[in-house]
Amino acid sequence: VKGKAKKAGKLAKPVTQAAVLGAGIMGGGIAYQSASKGTPIVMKDINQAALDLGLNEAAKLLSAQVERGRSTPDKMAKVLNNITPSLDYAAIKSANIVVEAVVENPKVKSMVLAEVEGQVADDAIIASNTSTISIDLLAKSLKNPARFCGMHFFNPVHKMPLVEVIRGKDTSEETVASVVAYASKMGKTPIVVNDCPGFFVNRVLFPYFAGFNGLLADGGDFVAIDKVMEKQFGWPMGPAYLLDVVGLDTGHHAQAVMAEGFPDRMGKSGKDAIDVMYEAGRLGQKNSKGFYQYS
Ligand code: NAD
Repeated sequence: VKGKAKKAGKLAKPVTQAAVLGAGIMGGGIAYQSASKGTPIVMKDINQAALDLGLNEAAKLLSAQVERGRSTPDKMAKVLNNITPSLDYAAIKSANIVVEAVVENPKVKSMVLAEVEGQVADDAIIASNTSTISIDLLAKSLKNPARFCGMHFFNPVHKMPLVEVIRGKDTSEETVASVVAYASKMGKTPIVVNDCPGFFVNRVLFPYFAGFNGLLADGGDFVAIDKVMEKQFGWPMGPAYLLDVVGLDTGHHAQAVMAEGFPDRMGKSGKDAIDVMYEAGRLGQKNSKGFYQYS
């Protein structure tokens, strides 16, 4: 394993300038994390309000660190200086790596990825933060799919250690090694996984949610279930609260992808609690009402 890691390290291209497409929950978090760990990053969106929000979130996280005595106003200014917000594609031209984190829509992502390839150097790496879309499907939008793979962060980016590096059928070893190296430089723990519905984490998580849905269908109480999983079993949060954090829209969509990908294991008959919550517009913390009420 040591030899393999050394070989992978040699293959990795150094990243001195990064870019992220999309300044939403994930894009903003990726920009903050890259900048905090010393890699300058351009944050590109199509919407000025999103860019402002992304920068504000980064500034809030940094201020909290200064308040806790873990950083200084000087360091905070340096990190913020490492994030260049832009509405203009020209700003990503010199990036060695571009992480696409726009809305979870295959058509939009395919269009954006083709646009990115037209902007950057021939040897720049392109990665997608998609949660559910096949890497091989997205790769079809690129002239050179060898330079492309998945780079799946988890929410909130600054807290969650794992990054799934998803290898498509045409992804080169150099691309995998470069993304692994960049994720490590960002202070994350990368794992390399093959392209399949749910990648790694959602293949573990969604059968767990299916178990939770089953308990509710049998008359279980979600508050009691959360309490057992948190207080007695010792996990950081129970399934209902976790779904509120992830978002019931995201959960609903990912669950459908899992059911389609693994009909024998994840298929279901009739509506479950995730469907009911989603259809009632109870999306979780993002709109202040999910399993729980947030004010
Ligand atoms: P979001 O809606 O918060 O942000 C998406 C951003 O993309 C918006 O600011 C939007 O203006 C921007 N955008 C749309 N089209 C664009 C374009 N053509 N060019 C540049 N920017 C564009 O979404 P999010 O929750 O940050 O999710 C982004 C991606 O990350 C999705 O693929 C999602 O599946 C994935 N993801 C989300 C989570 C999560 O918990 N939210 C976790 C892991 C991965």
